Amino acid sequence: MDDTFLAQLRCPLDPKREATLTRDEQGLVCSRCSCHFPIKQGLPVLVPEEVELPPQTREVSQLPCQRAANREKSRK
Ligand SMILES: [Zn+2]
Repeated sequence: MDDTFLAQLRCPLDPKREATLTRDEQGLVCSRCSCHFPIKQGLPVLVPEEVELPPQTREVSQLPCQRAANREKSRK
């Protein structure tokens, strides 16, 4: 996976698709919410079902990417 491709990827938990991802040893990490996504057979698996939550986070809804989305919704 090259850097140009990586730069286009966004966290699937961010509905606005603003949060970028960075590479680590096992996969990709969201720059905003720190959740982790696996890379399988060279391809990043960017689906909420495969997310690995950061320590101390028990639910997807607690993540900054999701909280930002929920704030948007309640404002409308
Ligand atoms: Zn995120």
